[in-house]
Amino acid sequence: KYYNMVEDMKGKIRVFCRIRPGGAIVVEKTDEYSVTVETPRGQREFQFDKVFTAEASQDDLFLDASRLIQSAMDGYNVCIFAYGQTGSGKTFTMVGDKDQKNPGIMPRSFNAIFDIIQENRAKFEFKVSAYMLELYNDKLQDLFVSLPGEAHAQSQSHGQARRVEIKRNRKGVVFAQGAETKEASSAQELYALFQQACANRHISATKMNVESSRSHLLVGIMVESKNLTNGSVCKGKLSLVDLAGSERAAKTGAKDHQLKEANSINKSLSALGDVISALSAELPHVPYRNSKLTQVMQDSLGGNAKTLMIVNISPSECNLDETLTSLIYATRAK
Ligand code: ADP
Ligand code: MG
Repeated sequence: KYYNMVEDMKGKIRVFCRIRPGGAIVVEKTDEYSVTVETPRGQREFQFDKVFTAEASQDDLFLDASRLIQSAMDGYNVCIFAYGQTGSGKTFTMVGDKDQKNPGIMPRSFNAIFDIIQENRAKFEFKVSAYMLELYNDKLQDLFVSLPGEAHAQSQSHGQARRVEIKRNRKGVVFAQGAETKEASSAQELYALFQQACANRHISATKMNVESSRSHLLVGIMVESKNLTNGSVCKGKLSLVDLAGSERAAKTGAKDHQLKEANSINKSLSALGDVISALSAELPHVPYRNSKLTQVMQDSLGGNAKTLMIVNISPSECNLDETLTSLIYATRAK
């Protein structure tokens, strides 16, 4: 049932590229593994572990990602994240469309986790719990906890989510202190928690923007399985991240508070890029500490973790600059 493509990628970073439908085509897929972009200075080609065109369905993408869900159940730390400018299809990829006619990786993962549990019920006892966080303007907030109160001046929030701090224990393990984890006993329960979390997100509109794309959404799902024969316990984690839009501030016609948002986003995304390139170059020092984003994602990047980065790009001509920037960012993982 679960496809074998992302086999043996321990410690490695795989990169998929997904091209959104719509717009004049400046991006061409040359084959399953590369994308060619027409630039004013000629063609440029970029290589990926796999390329998904506008015709590719959510099923197609999940088929190639689902192996990783099995890995998280087997005790690995797995991270799947979407990178790209606002409007390029990150949320479509990770969450799905609004009415969930085309669910994305998150709801599909919730189902896959409980499908696997169902299949292994006789031999294992499972415990699934989750945290859901938002990183906005360098503040990490727990989306399970919405305290009524102060509405934000520039963004309507449904309450003030509780602050979470990043701490490091004596063994050097990073954890989000104050982040509530909730247990779920079915895919429906997990999805309900996710909906509750989404309702607590910041909503801020910029010119280029829909909603919620000025913050990073971080969903962590911990799966513990106890082998009923020998009592051994295995712990894995699946991190699913819908990153904030990667576009540069100028293009969005940013005002003051938007500049602050943009700077904070740029800082965290470039720190993530630095971590990814250090990992793929196998450098001895990986600069996790440079941003909150990389600190929260630390346990799912490098070491034994399996990471899948999905670079979402738009095929329209007016987005050419941002598309090139995203493609170049993605090649840092090579
Ligand atoms: P982002 O999260 O990167 O800002 P969205 O996921 O919100 O972008 O996508 C922008 C719009 O395009 C949404 O209406 C979304 O449903 C649609 N869309 C994005 N990717 C696809 C796709 N592969 N197929 C169909 N519609 C898509
Ligand atoms: Mg989005």
